[in-house]
Amino acid sequence: MTKLLSVGVDLGGHTISAALVETEGKNVRILYRADRDTPEGRDIYEVVECIADMTAEVSRDREITSAGVGIPGFLDASRRIITKLTNFSGLENIAFLEYLSHALEKRGLSPLLAMENDANCFAVGEAFCGAAAGCRDFIVLTLGTGIGSGIFVNGSLVTGAHGMAGEAGHISISEHREIRCGCGSTGHLETLASADYIEQKAAKEGLPGDFRSLWHMRNDKRADDIVSNALETMARGIASLIVVLDPEKIILSGGMSKAEGIAEELGSRTLPWLPLPMRKHLSIELSLLGADAGLYGAASISLLRR
Ligand SMILES: [Zn+2]
Repeated sequence: MTKLLSVGVDLGGHTISAALVETEGKNVRILYRADRDTPEGRDIYEVVECIADMTAEVSRDREITSAGVGIPGFLDASRRIITKLTNFSGLENIAFLEYLSHALEKRGLSPLLAMENDANCFAVGEAFCGAAAGCRDFIVLTLGTGIGSGIFVNGSLVTGAHGMAGEAGHISISEHREIRCGCGSTGHLETLASADYIEQKAAKEGLPGDFRSLWHMRNDKRADDIVSNALETMARGIASLIVVLDPEKIILSGGMSKAEGIAEELGSRTLPWLPLPMRKHLSIELSLLGADAGLYGAASISLLRR
């Protein structure tokens, strides 16, 4: 069977990860990986050079068929232009793949290139070889700095008429307009339920400013109130997604999903918001691949589009 080599890149606000992924039929594995800090100031040209360097590094002079990048923001429908990078400032309407293609050429590399929203990459990765293997309808939620989601319906990734489907973090969930969302609007799910929100609120009240510590000190009423309110808001968001899409399962990924018992707690908080006939189908699971899902997904996206 033919072995295909491709590079998957996950562009994060703090870290960029890259991996050389080998695909042989249904067997996929990461051969090498590298992680670097995202260039300070998040300058797009420096980001592109960094990704090109890392692609060369993990390729190790082997011929790669394709490379894909998971982008933490909105992309145009053609998947050539970054419309808006929500947590990077001033980065709008960028012909990202063109820049990357030039940077790779300088390093003697000319793989088939593709990019996709990062949470969509996580969903593709989970479908490829993770918790969604064999599923046709599922939702992956990436719970971290923000809240992302990747949605499969009838076995296909949902991208929408304008390339922006599956942005569950931007579901309008509250009348509170005081916290602005990175997307330019207000009252969105990720402004009231993400790790960033929880940590900022805790720090303001003199509590530890990291989600992990707060999760472990829920015997303190103030810490528990902050975490519980955020999870309750998230549960309403999850219930809204379920009633619209009727998925087989919700898969949790991202830093917050590592909190012990979070899937069970979100399950019990989501249940009362669902219509009675839908309750018996509620299934919330943890990712099997963790952060690697984004790398597997990014690496396979260009293979899927060949
Ligand atoms: Zn938003």
